[in-house]
Amino acid sequence: MVHEEYYKLLSPEHKYTQAFCTEEEIRMADTIRQFVNKEVMPKRSDLEGGWHRDEQLAIETQHALYKRMVGMGLTKSNLPEAYGGLGLSPVVRQMINEELARGDIGLATLAGKIHWIVSFMLAADRDDLLKEFAPRIVGEESWTACVAITEPAGGANLEDPAQEFRTIRTIARQDGGDWVIRGHKIWPGPGGPLNRYQTPDMAGHLGYWTVCTTDPSKGSDGVALIHVPPDAKGLSFSKPYEKMGFCWSDENVDIYFDDVRVPKKYRIDTEPGQGAQIVKGYVIGLGRLAGAARLTGLSQAVLEIVLNSAKHREIVGQPMRERSLFANHLAEMYRHIDLARQYYLSVTWQVTHPELYGAHWSAEMIAKYSAARSFAGDCAKFCCNAGMEMMGSYGYAYEFNIEKYMRDYKIVQMWLGGAQRDRLDIAQGLFGPFKWGGFDAWEKKQKLSS
Ligand SMILES: Cc1cc2nc3c(=O)[nH]c(=O)nc-3n(C[C@H](O)[C@H](O)[C@H](O)COP(=O)(O)OP(=O)(O)OC[C@H]3O[C@@H](n4cnc5c(N)ncnc54)[C@H](O)[C@@H]3O)c2cc1C
Repeated sequence: MVHEEYYKLLSPEHKYTQAFCTEEEIRMADTIRQFVNKEVMPKRSDLEGGWHRDEQLAIETQHALYKRMVGMGLTKSNLPEAYGGLGLSPVVRQMINEELARGDIGLATLAGKIHWIVSFMLAADRDDLLKEFAPRIVGEESWTACVAITEPAGGANLEDPAQEFRTIRTIARQDGGDWVIRGHKIWPGPGGPLNRYQTPDMAGHLGYWTVCTTDPSKGSDGVALIHVPPDAKGLSFSKPYEKMGFCWSDENVDIYFDDVRVPKKYRIDTEPGQGAQIVKGYVIGLGRLAGAARLTGLSQAVLEIVLNSAKHREIVGQPMRERSLFANHLAEMYRHIDLARQYYLSVTWQVTHPELYGAHWSAEMIAKYSAARSFAGDCAKFCCNAGMEMMGSYGYAYEFNIEKYMRDYKIVQMWLGGAQRDRLDIAQGLFGPFKWGGFDAWEKKQKLSS
């Protein structure tokens, strides 16, 4: 099924409200849309190696398309011009997410890795590190990066503000001029040996921005976000996990830190309490907000497939989409998608006005990121499900792509804390923080056993 028709209501000039962005930014979104139509849409299946999951085809396709995206400047959009980047607003970052995810949400996530790590260094005002990484980010070569958060004891614990980061067990201790890191992360991606990221179209890996603690009992005050170069001594990886989607766009691995030593300057946060603020506001918060834009793009792709299909499928001589029951389904999909979009755009615009809406890491902003991501997740669930039902068996078939969108949306709804965590964070934004019952007793037990 091709995206053969142009739907004005789904075009950048109609969907990206000028209340939140400029005409020029909308034209940029249109350029990305055209790139996606021409170069990504025909290769959506190749991105996971086709029906037979051909690893070589998948990696070659991923890296070649990523190189094109780097060439278009999509990965350096939020790096300020002073470092050679484009210095574009967070709203543009979100349009990039939405437009790329319309083609493939894994590719959009890959581009977002660079936006993500740049945002941490900007938040901590780390001119020295931005200067160090900028040449690789703005150059012609393509590089990837990874943010390592999740631990075996439970990802959602770490993302739970009520637990104040007390469950982190990746410990960083200072030794002379270095940080020495010991611990174990699960699921970070893209990860693994450096040579997996050194291919004809990929220059390498920038490394692992790792959420650590100097002391779990210090809670939020102990949080340290530390950059670990990809070839650091003491770093080792498991084989990539086998999973339902995101097969090669995000190679997820266990990462073992066996007294990994990195220079002191690689701790991103520099002031007391800043590590926790960056992890809450930028790692988790902006990560969820980016997820909202990507889920919206994915949902639109599904709507377009179904619109096209329902034009050709007839019921008693009339296109299916003109029969009231099915027209209603399509309108419902549109309603969810546009509300998800207008909401994530509004929250993204609010991010640029902390003087009005609060710091990135405030409980109120975290509630809004979580509302945006969870609503967009519900929207994607609804669109994939309703879309597949409307297309019948063809929707279930590999060839029509909905089954891939259905496999892919699920993890974007679940990562960085999950759909339930989103709801709890919205509640905490509404009526303030609360602690889990039994928290004090649990913490006492932890101390006794350590
Ligand atoms: C494709 C993919 C890519 C990923 N990429 C990365 C990455 O780049 N970096 C990284 O660090 N991790 C990554 N992850 C991991 C992901 O973010 C975590 O798996 C996720 O946050 C949930 O953690 P968990 O799997 O440990 O689930 P658990 O913590 O065991 O939670 C299971 C479910 O229970 C609920 N729950 C549990 N505890 C709580 C709580 N305290 N409050 C509310 N709800 C709760 C949540 O709904 C949660 O979804 C990735 C995972 C996948 C599959």
